[in-house]
Amino acid sequence: MGMDYSSKLSAWLANGSISARTIYWEVKKFEKEITENQDTYWLIFELIWRDFFKYVSLKHGSKIFQIKGILNNKYDWKFDKQKLNQWCSGTTADSFVNANMKELEKTGWMSNRGRQNVASYWAKELEQDWRYGAAYFESMLIDYDVHSNWGNWMYNSGVGNDPRDRKFNTKLQAERYDPNGKFQKLWLQEALF
Ligand SMILES: Cc1cc2nc3c(=O)[nH]c(=O)nc-3n(C[C@H](O)[C@H](O)[C@H](O)COP(=O)(O)OP(=O)(O)OC[C@H]3O[C@@H](n4cnc5c(N)ncnc54)[C@H](O)[C@@H]3O)c2cc1C
Repeated sequence: MGMDYSSKLSAWLANGSISARTIYWEVKKFEKEITENQDTYWLIFELIWRDFFKYVSLKHGSKIFQIKGILNNKYDWKFDKQKLNQWCSGTTADSFVNANMKELEKTGWMSNRGRQNVASYWAKELEQDWRYGAAYFESMLIDYDVHSNWGNWMYNSGVGNDPRDRKFNTKLQAERYDPNGKFQKLWLQEALF
């Protein structure tokens, strides 16, 4: 929660207000003049993910929108409209997922940790057609970027670049990243809305 856990540069990158190169050289300047630490390392590392997904799109073209993704993996994808409504409106059985989805609904924003968890929940826990999740994100995200969105969705749904077919344990993730339930409380408290 809050301003400082990540840079919040994604919307400005997505709408073309700032380039990855400008950020890169600012970080290098900061490292030289002020300090070089884990945060400066990770900021550049994350920008490399952004580039990576652009190259994935260049290489694979429209495959990034297809149900089998770039891995040609066949799963028994389901589609249940009620489950889609519950997931979108943050009314599933999982409160960590719900809090993240409420944040998205109210603000157009979600942390990377949240995005990974809700995507995994949709595609791997509920086993729903991952493309509906990606399309919902496309319609909502303030930082929507075709390559980062569809690339990350494929990755988290087992049809992309992740060779290990991993599933997030959203309960453990909530215990680790929201141990006091502060984040869940913030977005699930009815009084706020
Ligand atoms: C399912 C899913 C969908 C996503 N959809 C988008 C999207 O539409 N647009 C988007 O910009 N990012 C997307 N991301 C990546 C990531 O969640 C956001 O870039 C990040 O949360 C933005 O916050 P920040 O700028 O504070 O990031 P920071 O952590 O400060 O990172 C700095 C920059 O690095 C890049 N970056 C960081 N993580 C990733 C990543 N996993 N993949 C690609 N680039 C990354 C972004 O440009 C970001 O602004 C998605 C991730 C997932 C798991």
